[in-house]
This record gives sequence, structure tokens and C-alpha cells, in this order.
Amino acid sequence: MLKVSSLNIYYGAVRALNNISIHVKEKEFVSLIGSNGAGKTSLLNGILNIVPPKSGEIVFQNRTITGLPTKKKVKMGISLVPEGRRVFPNMSVHENLEMGGYQKSSKIKNRQMEFVLDLFPILKERNKQLAGMLSGGEQQMLAIGRALMSDPKLLLMDEPSMGLAPLVIKNVYEKLTKLKENGLTIFLVEQNASVALKYADRGYVLENGKIVLQGKSSELKDDNEIKRAYLGKE
Ligand code: ATP
Repeated sequence: MLKVSSLNIYYGAVRALNNISIHVKEKEFVSLIGSNGAGKTSLLNGILNIVPPKSGEIVFQNRTITGLPTKKKVKMGISLVPEGRRVFPNMSVHENLEMGGYQKSSKIKNRQMEFVLDLFPILKERNKQLAGMLSGGEQQMLAIGRALMSDPKLLLMDEPSMGLAPLVIKNVYEKLTKLKENGLTIFLVEQNASVALKYADRGYVLENGKIVLQGKSSELKDDNEIKRAYLGKE
């Protein structure tokens, strides 16, 4: 579904991504793990052209989309849940969701709204409340719901576990698993390697802008280097 080949991203003279190649198959759940500053956000921003790559190719559903504007990519079916959730704090839950579907027809918006409120009953309960009043976990659910409003085929997520308690993280990842079962393709980036590898089918490891390891999550979890560097095990 998604194929990124030899992607390079620079900020001035700083090279943030060094010849990155990854792929995600339809209905797959893939995680990319990496520590602070490894280049995870840059990769997601590059895929969506929020930060235009210097070179490389991005193919989505057999179409080359490398330099297309972000808005067009969202319209084609790629949606991002950004780092730190970034809900609109002074807008209600309902208004935040509406914003996510602004490019869609009212028919699709209504269908997605129903789907999202069904998946996250807490958003139904809090529909009229300001998003800024929600807990971190609820805001994460809202950010996912908002991304789902554009009816994506591919969901990109930046550090969904950030700042959340373990039980809430579990909750969020269980919802993602449900979405995958429902046919959604998921690619997320995480510092929290143990949770990312627990739920994903496959994983990549990013270090200093380079992919240093890849494989099935079950294999990566058993890799001694990963255990030492990312899972805190000897
Ligand atoms: P984090 O977990 O902190 O979000 P990350 O893995 O997402 O880290 P990036 O944010 O992609 O990493 O950053 C990769 C590298 O690029 C870092 O060295 C960072 O300092 C640098 N960088 C990121 N954004 C910019 C920018 N706008 N201008 C200059 N350098 C940047």
C-alpha cells in the first residue's frame, strides 16, 4: 500500500533522514521504533510532504505521490495523528471531529462520525465538552477519531503512547488493533518499543536517520541488541 524508497530529508545542512526505505502492506500494522531525535517525526512529515523530502520516492496504492501537497495526500486516503495529539482545545469534541472530515461530503462525514462515536463511546459522552478539558487518553482518542473522519486507508501515528499511563496506552493500542481488524492499514512511530512491538505485525528500527534493523515484531522482540537498547533487558 505504501512504499518509501531512499528518502532523504534535510533541515539546512542537517541530514535528518538518510536513504530511508520502508513499506507497509494493505491491512498491515507496522511500527517504527527509535529514540529521541532519531528522525521518526521527520519520516511521517516527509511521507505527507509537510516537510518536502530532498530526494527519494513515495508510492501509495501504486501511484507516485512524492511531492504532492499534503491536502491532496489526505484526500487520497492518508491521515496523520500528530505528536502530542494537537486537538483544538477551545473547540468541542464534536467540532474537532467535524474538522477532520472537512474535505469530505456530508454523507461520508455522517458515516464516519457514527463509526468514530461507536468506536470511542467516551467521545459520544463528551461530545459537547471542550477538547482542552479532556484527559490525555481521551484527547488521544479524539485525535485518532479526528484522523478517521477523513475516511483514511492508511493511518499514520506519531508516538501514540507519549505521556499516557500504561493502562491508557493499552486502551489506545487495543482500539488500533480493532481498526486493523476493520481493514485499516497502520504505520506508527514510537519511542515505546515494548508496546509498539507488542501490537504490530512488523517493525523497523531507526537510529540517527537510518534504518538499522527490520523484521517481524516477534523476531525484533527477541533480538539481543533491541532488548538491550530499547526494552531495558540484559
Ligand atoms: P522526537 O522523539 O524528539 O520527536 P524524532 O525521532 O521524531 O524525535 P525528528 O523530530 O524527526 O526526530 O528529528 C530528527 C532530527 O532532525 C533531530 O536531530 C532534530 O533535531 C532535527 N530536526 C527536526 N526538526 C527540525 C527543524 N524544523 N529544523 C532543524 N532541525 C530539525
